[in-house]
Amino acid sequence: MVKVAVAGAKGRMGNLIADLVLQDRDLKLVGVTERPDSDVIGGEFSEGVNFYASLRDIPEKPDVVIDFTVPEATLRLLDEAKEIGAALVIGTTGFTDEEKRKIEGTAKSVPVVFSPNMSLGVNLLFKLVAEVTKALKDKGYDIEIFEIHHRFKKDAPSGTAMRLAEIIAENLGKDLDEIGVYGRRGIVGERKPDELGVLAARMGDVVGDHTVFFATLGERLELTHRATSRETFARGAVVAAKWVAGREAGLYTMFDVLGI
Ligand code: NAP
Repeated sequence: MVKVAVAGAKGRMGNLIADLVLQDRDLKLVGVTERPDSDVIGGEFSEGVNFYASLRDIPEKPDVVIDFTVPEATLRLLDEAKEIGAALVIGTTGFTDEEKRKIEGTAKSVPVVFSPNMSLGVNLLFKLVAEVTKALKDKGYDIEIFEIHHRFKKDAPSGTAMRLAEIIAENLGKDLDEIGVYGRRGIVGERKPDELGVLAARMGDVVGDHTVFFATLGERLELTHRATSRETFARGAVVAAKWVAGREAGLYTMFDVLGI
């Protein structure tokens, strides 16, 4: 039985994940967290499972902590997880490079699965985009990423779009800081051959659409993933929690978890 704590259990993802953990016979939900100043702290999430302000306060130590919150909350969890020796599954997005380095630092002490997208389909998209980028490199194709998410999303572009951009830059042998273009307005001039456009739209209840365009004169290849339910991410996070429990310290991705 793997003991699990879920951070941000009042959030859209946290709530879904905590419910899946409760329903899973191989997992035990030992506690959930919320913002320390939230009025739910000390209250009950479900029968026998309480809200805590910190992982340190959970009486039964979790083996794994699943985190889908905000970067500020994740950074606090890193210290707490290290202190209690719990593995981490981090799905939160919107980290700066420096914050990502802190996650890498924590992964030297405890096992961490860190992925901006826990769905199998998107992880396959990551693989396909790497292959297509390699095949079309230096052949005159313009590459652009377009993503759509629901109106409540706080960060932009999405963590998945940024991961796609990193994968494309890596496979082009370029620095993303130099080629990334995040929106265009006014007389911006003709597109530079090595520009990488990353564009975000926010509307309604869209769970998450990502398209990567590879376009040249006369043709366009589009690779699209559309998530139709958040459950795909929540289920991925639960699979990751089971996989990471008891592993050696290290930074893992969903490629490791899914074996792709
Ligand atoms: P959300 O509904 O806003 O949930 C975030 C939750 O975290 C809220 O309940 C928030 O509380 C809580 N929180 C804030 N500070 C906290 C703290 N210090 N300790 C504990 N909890 C705290 O957002 P969401 O849609 O669930 O998304 C959460 C994150 O997951 C985002 O970064 C999103 O991009 C990411 N995400 C990742 C994947 C993936 O597959 N990796 C999939 C979907 C979403 P308040 O409301 O009080 O601030």
